[in-house]
Amino acid sequence: MKIAIFGAGVAGLSTAIELVERGHTVELYEKRKILGGKVSVWKDGDGDSIESGLHIVFGGYKQLQQYLDKVGAGDNYLWKEHALIYAEPDGKQSFFKKANLPSPWAEVIGGMQADFLTLWDKLSLIKGLYPALAGNEEYFRSQDHMTYSEWHRLRGASEHSLQKLWRAIALAMNFIEPNVISARPMITIFKYFGTEYAATKFAFFRKNPGDSMIEPMRQYIQSKGGKIFIDAKLNRFELNSDETIKCAVLQDGHKIEADAYVSALPVHNIKKIVPEEWLNNAYFRNLHEFVGSPVANCQLWFDRKITSTDNLMFSQGTTFATFADVSITCPDDFQQGMGTANGGSVMSLVLAPAHQLIDMPNEVITKLVIKDIHDRFPLSRDAKLLKSTIVKIPQSVYKAVPDVDKFRPDQISPVKNFFLAGDYTDQHYLASMEGAALSGQQAAEKLHARFCA
Ligand SMILES: Cc1cc2nc3c(=O)[nH]c(=O)nc-3n(C[C@H](O)[C@H](O)[C@H](O)COP(=O)(O)OP(=O)(O)OC[C@H]3O[C@@H](n4cnc5c(N)ncnc54)[C@H](O)[C@@H]3O)c2cc1C
Repeated sequence: MKIAIFGAGVAGLSTAIELVERGHTVELYEKRKILGGKVSVWKDGDGDSIESGLHIVFGGYKQLQQYLDKVGAGDNYLWKEHALIYAEPDGKQSFFKKANLPSPWAEVIGGMQADFLTLWDKLSLIKGLYPALAGNEEYFRSQDHMTYSEWHRLRGASEHSLQKLWRAIALAMNFIEPNVISARPMITIFKYFGTEYAATKFAFFRKNPGDSMIEPMRQYIQSKGGKIFIDAKLNRFELNSDETIKCAVLQDGHKIEADAYVSALPVHNIKKIVPEEWLNNAYFRNLHEFVGSPVANCQLWFDRKITSTDNLMFSQGTTFATFADVSITCPDDFQQGMGTANGGSVMSLVLAPAHQLIDMPNEVITKLVIKDIHDRFPLSRDAKLLKSTIVKIPQSVYKAVPDVDKFRPDQISPVKNFFLAGDYTDQHYLASMEGAALSGQQAAEKLHARFCA
């Protein structure tokens, strides 16, 4: 079959990997000049790698790791110490380290040793979070009507642990606050955290997600005969009389005919392209239930090291929620002699929540970030800032607010030759690289089953 895929983020690339493997003729169309979507990385005029966002691979990302192995990138990421590290004012750090025991004892004993939680926090968490540890998919779904803060308080867990521990997790996962995010994804994460020892390990790409993951994926698809087109923006579909797709039309007017079409566009893009005729069907109308989370990524190059932490860090009450010194975590990029780096720290910081920041000028945002960096990293107060960059994404992953999960569409659409992939489609992960990889795997499998079984 000839299959046209639109959007070359992790979802589109995963769909393409699956379909070239099954012997189909695959054409992948991407509107930008670079592949990778929210994971894309490019070099600026100084030769520095600019990331759309700091990206971490979790131990639980089975599908993504399988693709990384397949495309020869299985050694391109490095596991870090199994710990949550919170940067506190004046250089102090707090830790939540898993004990070297099977789950859930690893988490219970590790939690009891966390110095930033009070005894009451710990006892209220063990009692309050038990339903999440014992719960199944049906229970998690039944909790989707309330926010995580509501769920946490209903369970009698302490307010201090909500602000100190879980707020950072909500911001890291979906770039929104615990009083906005649905309880469902949070308690699903607790289940993983509390029952699968390795699921919450963090890994960083050796270079950056572009060179270490997206480029090997591109090479693999092309080596199997797949064709990839950049600067190729999907504009609209022309339909047959039965409302199936006759052809896809790119912005430059080029028409593409295929046996099947896969959208791996973000939900806010595909909903603008869905033909009016299809809106009779709730499957397509429901795409309008999704709203993107604003987020920004800031990179700062310093003339000296301001931290020695080789891991992801979290922090509270700062413009940034999660961050790392990528000159330490990513040993094959951001090193002395590469672009602006001179052996000093290169901080990559995810700014969230970002709804207030997104319309501010970059210079103002950078000042706010630097003020917080000085607060958390005393060594930075005497350091010289060599360079700063900001990438803003006004609509990134969909906001996992209460009652939206039920609208996540299946990869098979009611239109016979049209399929959806993308992190927002129905798979058991929240919007993430793993969710995008799973969506691509499911879209390809369902497409193949519909036409070739
Ligand atoms: C700052 C930040 C940090 C993150 N950190 C992590 C992390 O640590 N771990 C993790 O697992 N996830 C993380 N994520 C989430 C993860 O990046 C996304 O969930 C995932 O990459 C989405 O993949 P996707 O293929 O579904 O969508 P996208 O990456 O959005 O890909 C869609 C593609 O479609 C293209 N496109 C759009 N319109 C058209 C059109 N009309 N025609 C052709 N092409 C089009 C886009 O250019 C893009 O390339 C982070 C996201 C951000 C923004």
